[in-house]
Amino acid sequence: MLSPAHQPTFAIEARGLDKTYRAQGRGSPTHALKAVDLTIPRGSFFGLLGPNGAGKSTFINILGGLVKKSGGSAAIWGHDIDADPMNARGAIGIVPQELNMDPFFSPAEALEIQAGYYGVPKGQRRTEEILKAVGLWDKRAAYARTLSGGMKRRLLVAKAMVHAPPVLVLDEPTAGVDVDLRRQLWDYVRSLHAQGVTIVLTTHYLEEAQELCDTIAIINHGRVIACEPTPRLISRLDQKTLVVTPQEPLAAAMTDIAGVSFGMRKSGAFTLTYKTSEHKVEELLDLVRTAGVAIKDLSIEEPDLEDVFVELTTT
Ligand code: ADP
Repeated sequence: MLSPAHQPTFAIEARGLDKTYRAQGRGSPTHALKAVDLTIPRGSFFGLLGPNGAGKSTFINILGGLVKKSGGSAAIWGHDIDADPMNARGAIGIVPQELNMDPFFSPAEALEIQAGYYGVPKGQRRTEEILKAVGLWDKRAAYARTLSGGMKRRLLVAKAMVHAPPVLVLDEPTAGVDVDLRRQLWDYVRSLHAQGVTIVLTTHYLEEAQELCDTIAIINHGRVIACEPTPRLISRLDQKTLVVTPQEPLAAAMTDIAGVSFGMRKSGAFTLTYKTSEHKVEELLDLVRTAGVAIKDLSIEEPDLEDVFVELTTT
């Protein structure tokens, strides 16, 4: 239950989280998570974004107790997953990727069984409320196998919420869900968020994360390569840095130009960081020459994210 008494700073806190899957057959081991430090603030709508194979599910499955970590630590709602697994497990609801469910139970039965599994007393169960919220009340007595893909997906969300966890994780929840149902799913998830539930969404769709999440972490090859408020992350994409090594050390900083920020490096090089949508590199070079700077060397740095984003926006 959401307890106002217990309000940790972080809904999820991972420190040096590491996972190597053992080699299958003759293959080599897979280092799926590499010393991941990640903190997810309480109350956020957090996106864990990365291409396929980045390590998102591994991270989630460690939190859910389905995958055993190789190193590091993780806490959910302040409860360490090793030292306090019961409370850690009770603080999180995970909506898995696969639509695996017992085909012979009705949605109402599935929720009751799940509630029993989490030890929710009968008097505190909210089967009706939850089924209505996910739009499955009409289908409460139908066999799960007769539900459409979108309905099954919503039933999985409902199941993840039976114990009213303060943290809800959705692992790639919109694969195969049509636009209307997707909207319905997001309406429900947004209402949970408005009630104070911390939402973690994993996705390989940049657009989805951008639309929903206030903060996005990007994971690639098992490493977190960025974690920032969404607008800042998006604006970083549009940014490049021109690095200029002058023949002679600069006597003074160059005057600031709108949209361009000036910086100095210890090496003696100076930097002009600019938005590619607003400035062309030729303009900046003209500026450098006009300032009477003789150029010894030049390079352009792009954000590390660029490659990952190209992948995320083209797949
Ligand atoms: P994502 O969810 O971002 O697509 P995963 O966490 O599923 O990424 O996978 C990360 C890496 O770990 C991939 O290289 C994947 O092949 C590997 N992997 C995932 N699960 C297993 C497993 N059970 N055994 C071996 N390797 C695995």
